[in-house]
Amino acid sequence: MQVMKNRNNKKKCVVLLSGGLDSSTLLYLVIKKKYLPTCLIFDYGQKHKKEIESAKKIAKSVKVKYFLVKTNFPWKGSALVDNKINIPENRLFNDKKIPSTYVPARNIIFLSYAVSLAEVIGAKYIFYGANQIDYSGYPDCRNNFIKKFQNIINVGTKSAVENKKIKLVAPLINFSKSEIVKLAHKLNVPLKYTWSCYKGTKKPCGVCDACKLRNEGFRNAKLKDFYD
Ligand SMILES: [Zn+2]
Repeated sequence: MQVMKNRNNKKKCVVLLSGGLDSSTLLYLVIKKKYLPTCLIFDYGQKHKKEIESAKKIAKSVKVKYFLVKTNFPWKGSALVDNKINIPENRLFNDKKIPSTYVPARNIIFLSYAVSLAEVIGAKYIFYGANQIDYSGYPDCRNNFIKKFQNIINVGTKSAVENKKIKLVAPLINFSKSEIVKLAHKLNVPLKYTWSCYKGTKKPCGVCDACKLRNEGFRNAKLKDFYD
C-alpha cells in the first residue's frame, strides 16, 4: 500500500485550466499519461463567465478535483477585464505589438497560485498550456519565461529547499494550433465544453484573436469544430 501511495504521489500535478482548447487538451493529455491532476480555474473578472463554466465542465468530464479561485484586477489594464476597452476584431497577426487582450502579469500571478497549490498537495508538476508558435504576442507564453519561472520556484519555495522539486511543464509550447486541434481530436476532448472566444456571446464571435486562431487551427487540421 505504501509503495502504491508513493507511486501515486509522483504523478500528482496541478493543471491550470481556462476552459479553452489548449488547457483542456492539456488536461486530457495529462490524464492519458496517468498523472493525477488537480485543476486550478480562475474567476479574475473576465468580461464573461462562459470560460469559467467551460473549465468546470471540462474538469467534471474527467472527474478531477478543481479549485475555483476568485480574484480581480481592480486597476483593469486589459480588454479582457475592462468594459471600456473593446476586444480587438480581425487583427492581423503579423503585428508585433502585444495585443490589448494581454492582462498585465496575469500568468505570473496564476502560476504563483499553482505553485502554492502544488506545495500544499505535494504535487511534483505544474502543467501550463502555453504555446508560443501561432501566437507569440504574449511574453508569458514563451519558453524563456517558463525557464525563468522554474528558477523562481527553485529558489523561493519550501518544497525546493527540502529537495521536493516542483517542475513547471508546458508540453504544448511548440505545438501549432492545428497540432493542438489534432491532439484534442485524438484524445476525444469534448469540444462543445471548451470555449476560446474572448466574448461571451451565444456562439463564438469568429473575429477576435482567439476565435481566428482556433478557426485557422481547425481549418489547417481539416477537422470540424463543434459549431461548424
Ligand atoms: Zn471570438
